[in-house]
Amino acid sequence: MYKIKEIYYTLQGEGFHTGRPAVFCRFAGCNLWTGREEDRATAVCKFCDTDFWGMDGVNGGKYTAQALTDKIISLWPDHNIPVFVVCTGGEPGLQVDEALIDVFHSAAIEVAIESNGTVPLPSNLDWICISPKADATLAITKGNELKLVYPQVENTPSQFEHLDFDHFYLQPLDDVHQTDHIKATVDYCLYHPKWKLSLQTHKVIGID
Ligand code: SF4
Repeated sequence: MYKIKEIYYTLQGEGFHTGRPAVFCRFAGCNLWTGREEDRATAVCKFCDTDFWGMDGVNGGKYTAQALTDKIISLWPDHNIPVFVVCTGGEPGLQVDEALIDVFHSAAIEVAIESNGTVPLPSNLDWICISPKADATLAITKGNELKLVYPQVENTPSQFEHLDFDHFYLQPLDDVHQTDHIKATVDYCLYHPKWKLSLQTHKVIGID
């Protein structure tokens, strides 16, 4: 059974697929933070803005692979267009496995994952987006998209440029100094054109 925090239909807000309709499937749990505020100070990853703890969100619960597939398909509005699902978290790589992706694929679902890159991922994913966090060691060094929150004390963009990704994105850190972070991120991209700007457009337009 897969433990799911929430499943909902929306537009992808960040990175390469920005603006693309997608079913977001948020897997419960992460290996870099418990998700409880009282543990934030001691977490490996301290700036998390996602509620991934528990299974109490919209459509949350325990699912078999087939039940999860059926739920995702039920949220897609036009069955003439292939379903696009984004497996996110938390850290989806703790639960997503090849068997689940095979069931998704048997229903013609295109499968993307957004991972912190610290755990092995199934080889049959269609799109891999890795977002390095703090000083956690990367287990995944190749994929479609590397999306780095900027700035991070432990991580500079140049540490990742040699990795085997098709696209490199910098995304401004969302905290009380966000305006400064946006300017710094824009400047970095302008001076280092390997990197592209990613904005959290879902926050700008007020959707989940
Ligand atoms: S790795 Fe992602 S989900 Fe986990 S604590 Fe960090 S930002 Fe949150």
